[in-house]
Amino acid sequence: MKTLYVKFIVVTIGMMFISFILAFLISNIHYQKTLKPVNDQKNTKVALDIASFASEHPNLNLKEYLESISLVGYQLYLVDTDGNEFFFGEPFRDKGLSDSTKQSVLNGTIFHGILQFPQKTFVTGFFANELKNTIGVPLKYNGESFALFVRPDIKFLFNEMHILFGWILVLAISLTIIMVIINTKYLVKPISKLTKATKLLANGNYKVEFGIARHDELGELSHSFFRMARKLEQIDDMRKEFISNISHDIQSPLSNIKGYTNLLDNNSISKEETTKYISIINGEIRRLSTLTEQLLLLASLDRDEEFMVKKLFNVGQQLKELIRNYQWAINEKGIMLSYTLPDIELLGDPSLLETVWDNLLSNAIKYNKPNGSIEIVIEAREGSIFVTFEDTGIGMKDTELERIFDRFYRADVSRTRTIEGTGLGLSIVATIVKLHGGNITVKSKEKEGTSFIVELSHGDRSLASK
Ligand code: ADP
Repeated sequence: MKTLYVKFIVVTIGMMFISFILAFLISNIHYQKTLKPVNDQKNTKVALDIASFASEHPNLNLKEYLESISLVGYQLYLVDTDGNEFFFGEPFRDKGLSDSTKQSVLNGTIFHGILQFPQKTFVTGFFANELKNTIGVPLKYNGESFALFVRPDIKFLFNEMHILFGWILVLAISLTIIMVIINTKYLVKPISKLTKATKLLANGNYKVEFGIARHDELGELSHSFFRMARKLEQIDDMRKEFISNISHDIQSPLSNIKGYTNLLDNNSISKEETTKYISIINGEIRRLSTLTEQLLLLASLDRDEEFMVKKLFNVGQQLKELIRNYQWAINEKGIMLSYTLPDIELLGDPSLLETVWDNLLSNAIKYNKPNGSIEIVIEAREGSIFVTFEDTGIGMKDTELERIFDRFYRADVSRTRTIEGTGLGLSIVATIVKLHGGNITVKSKEKEGTSFIVELSHGDRSLASK
């Protein structure tokens, strides 16, 4: 398997080579189009200067003169009308040159070998040490005709400075490659750490530590990963707690039912005892049924909000009907109930919102004192609807208030032991309100009472499916 590390290095070095080839091709085009004619002109001028100097100084020893020119960095070839040839300076690698070329130069034509040198050799044509790659000029010396071919000695031109620049280039490339190798390791290391951490996480180990203290995108990624691991740990803890709570809440009514049915099996128990035990068994069955209904509802709410069917309905009317259903329980406890329920339309899921009001009202009754009071008010203000349930019940401590929306949470058992409940009602209420984009707040004082305020927006009426 190719690691990211190797891939990164190969790609970077590959890119360097591609850039090098592209730069070579581009500079070749530049040489062919711009530099080659300039180079040709420059060397033509040099060759003409050499020839005219020789013509103007007939007393000068031509061969010695050309020899001295070769010493300052030129390769020269001299040929006379009889075909006698003389070379000065570094020897040419390829001495091939057509007789017709020599003849035409002897006849007075200038030969532009540098300009005509074949393009296919790219910029390297500049370095080609060939007789064809020269400038040929006619030379008159003491009445005799010569053809002089000149080209700069590239080896000579490439002096210490050029070698130094060459070394700088080689060093720069080598150092870049070394730095790419080191830097890639630095870049890839956190990814390897994250991969290791992901594997640990997949095996259920949430206590992953990777010590990546960076402030770039990778730092951000590891930070998010760390947060995700913590969140997953919390969810896993919640799941375990949830299962243990359900098991307990199902197990305890079941063992009660088992215990009382065993007692009922005994023929010696009285009629009153039988009635009492059956009533207890019925109560436990009711508890189990409520629990499963609530769990099913929670599971549906958790799945998605698709299952909500929103429509416009009269929330005041809905609450009045609910109160009617609870009238017997209210009367039984001697509770005074007052309400202000104007006809207000709301866009929402009527059946889910009924569950909300049902839970809040049943709690206000359950946790009220005998002869206490309950007040229910609907108000429309600031584009929202506020539904308040206020009771003069047992109230709650601040520490309890913080947890009442948690699943299975029931406040101080000593106070609520005798009251039936599962601890799921308020978490269902909070989930439904949240699904409606609303908000629920609670205020409570121990032994004095509690008020729940549900805030819902009127809703976009155009969405209503009547
Ligand atoms: P339960 O099934 O126990 O009523 P809930 O989720 O409805 O579960 O409520 C959670 C806890 O919050 C209750 O057990 C109770 O201790 C407390 N609580 C809820 N409503 C009130 C209220 N109106 N007054 C006092 N305590 C309340």
